[in-house]
Amino acid sequence: MAGILFIISAPSGSGKSTLVSQVRSLVEGLEFSISYTTRQPRGSEEDGREYYFTTRHEFERMIAAGGFLEWAEVFGNYYGTAVAALAHAKYAGRDLLLDIDVQGAMQIMQKLPEAVSIFIMPPTPEVLERRLRNRSEAEHMTSEEDLQRRLKAARKELDRIGEYKYAIVNDVLDVAATEMKAIVLTERAALEADKALAASCLTSVGSPRLVSALNSFKVAEGGPSPE
Ligand code: ADP
Ligand code: 5GP
Repeated sequence: MAGILFIISAPSGSGKSTLVSQVRSLVEGLEFSISYTTRQPRGSEEDGREYYFTTRHEFERMIAAGGFLEWAEVFGNYYGTAVAALAHAKYAGRDLLLDIDVQGAMQIMQKLPEAVSIFIMPPTPEVLERRLRNRSEAEHMTSEEDLQRRLKAARKELDRIGEYKYAIVNDVLDVAATEMKAIVLTERAALEADKALAASCLTSVGSPRLVSALNSFKVAEGGPSPE
């Protein structure tokens, strides 16, 4: 696997988690980075599966220790990606998916410009509100205040869509998942093509074009000819 970092952002409730899990069932070698958060677990969420749930004190200790690749305060809670997540995926030779908010995405884009960014759009504000309401009812977390806060934030997040390389409208799940799969496979193929091109330029390979250029200068393949 290539070791590509995919940044996935979306207004809360757009269906990002649903989409990511569908794509992971379609494409091999995609590791999901489990973030740290100080928010309370929702519904059936488990520590170490959706998130590492932690305290503000512990989170701030990790910030001070330089343990985060990026972190942000979202809806009154801290969220962050551990440096170790990236190191682990690289070691395993797998691509890594980061499900992070717009602030965190901007930090990663600055630090790691080779990361591939994807924004997931809800099809309409009405659909976004319905999905948020359905989810909070299903998870017995019906805080109107929290819901309104997420809807308001969605507008602001959408203003940053132009800073992402790709955007997917999550209307019909299967269509959106097929599009995301296509993005992942295309980025992998592009990286492999770059790798092949770079490999063909290795001096140790001695490509026919290099040999011919060297011959024209009467330079031996192993380096410049002695005076
Ligand atoms: P996010 O991770 O972006 O906050 P979720 O994946 O939790 O959002 O999805 C929010 C709600 O919308 C969930 O109840 C989910 O089942 C539903 N949902 C997600 N994608 C779709 C879709 N394409 N069509 C219909 N419902 C969807
Ligand atoms: P939720 O509470 O709905 O799980 O997530 C709220 C928001 O926090 C979402 O936009 C989600 O992408 C974002 N988020 C989750 N993990 C991280 C993270 O590690 N870093 C940042 N910056 N945002 C995150």
